[in-house]
Amino acid sequence: MQTPILDPVACSGLSRRNFLRIAAATSALASVPVLTESRLAFAQRPKFADPNKGIHIDANENPLGPSESARKAIAEIIPKGGRYEFPMQMELGETFAKMEGFDPSYVDVYAGSSEPLHFTVLAFTSKDKPLVIADPGYEAPMWAANISGAPIIKVPLLDPKGAATHDVKAMLAASTTPGVIYLCNPNNPTGTVTSREDVEYLVSKAPKGTVILIDEAYIHLSDAQPSLDFVKDGKDVIVLRTFSKLYGMAGIRMGFAIGRPDLLKQIATFGGQNSMPITAIAAAKASLIDTDLVPTRKKLIGEIRAENLAWLKSEGYHATPSVSNCFMLDVRRPGKEVYAAMAQKDVYIGRIWPAWPNCVRVTVGSREEMAVFQKTFKEVMSGSTAGLEPQPIHERMRETPFAYLS
Ligand code: PLP
Repeated sequence: MQTPILDPVACSGLSRRNFLRIAAATSALASVPVLTESRLAFAQRPKFADPNKGIHIDANENPLGPSESARKAIAEIIPKGGRYEFPMQMELGETFAKMEGFDPSYVDVYAGSSEPLHFTVLAFTSKDKPLVIADPGYEAPMWAANISGAPIIKVPLLDPKGAATHDVKAMLAASTTPGVIYLCNPNNPTGTVTSREDVEYLVSKAPKGTVILIDEAYIHLSDAQPSLDFVKDGKDVIVLRTFSKLYGMAGIRMGFAIGRPDLLKQIATFGGQNSMPITAIAAAKASLIDTDLVPTRKKLIGEIRAENLAWLKSEGYHATPSVSNCFMLDVRRPGKEVYAAMAQKDVYIGRIWPAWPNCVRVTVGSREEMAVFQKTFKEVMSGSTAGLEPQPIHERMRETPFAYLS
């Protein structure tokens, strides 16, 4: 008997036009990595940087790691590691949906928020539908827009020496046909919050069909009002959440995209909804239902942040008024020199944004780490750093696209 030839279009249940669009998109995906914070941080780490040595406050990680409840859940689930356990994944989405008052169809589970971020930009931007983003802002959406061929419109933060928030009016004025307006609240790298009033204004005035992508990676660290209600109200809003920051699970990988089911479906055509590691699912669920976790960690990280911002002020330096686990620090000389000088002393601070060349991003680490940061920063700033350049990047990270970000 002849083996039947399978027609992928017929089997997929998609129209031929959609199938070809998705095929083109996925072949682009196959050759291009999703840009993540870890990739950006590692791209600038010098070759000599030993991950087990020195102070690493360059990737907005959480030195506390997973909570006790998450660790216990991981240990308990390991014997089941030979199974896919797909229902667990659904249950995780359902748990979050229930806690936030959503129908589960509004929540998709991903291995961190980088993928849904990337896919949202791919799905809703194109050469005629620009990406609008704050500057300085998180670079990953720009990388995705580069792939979709969308123009990238960077809008400077409002009041850069003060509140440093998204200039929502200027963002709206930047294009008449934006595909995606990206708002990170609190913002990476400044750690600053854009007011609820401004977010509401942005959502209410955005042109029809524009997706407002609200990245709440750092929301748990702040008192900012979450934007999930816009999704409940049926707006063209997608909210991203991750377990990488307050929950300390950057290496374990878990996150959510929250949006109207029709929007989530469009994102999912670019990839996603793969079977998640059951260790990550178990840890995320345990973290979600651990009612002490957010307030305890928010308080601790907030105290360490406040101590360091106060110390920097007493030393005469301006830093952004962060409510998150990172801030931008004005070093009043090329930030790359200070970065390089700190790295020579095994203290790895964050990268430099071209719009603010005299600033460096600093992640709030543990108290012990920040004590080393302070000592080293003082030493570095009391000497000359003229001419110092960051060392060559790791071999495998070379292709990370910094050039187009400037
Ligand atoms: N969004 C922002 C603003 C981030 O800073 C990060 C990571 O640092 C992410 C999203 C994605 O993180 P992950 O993929 O680990 O969830």
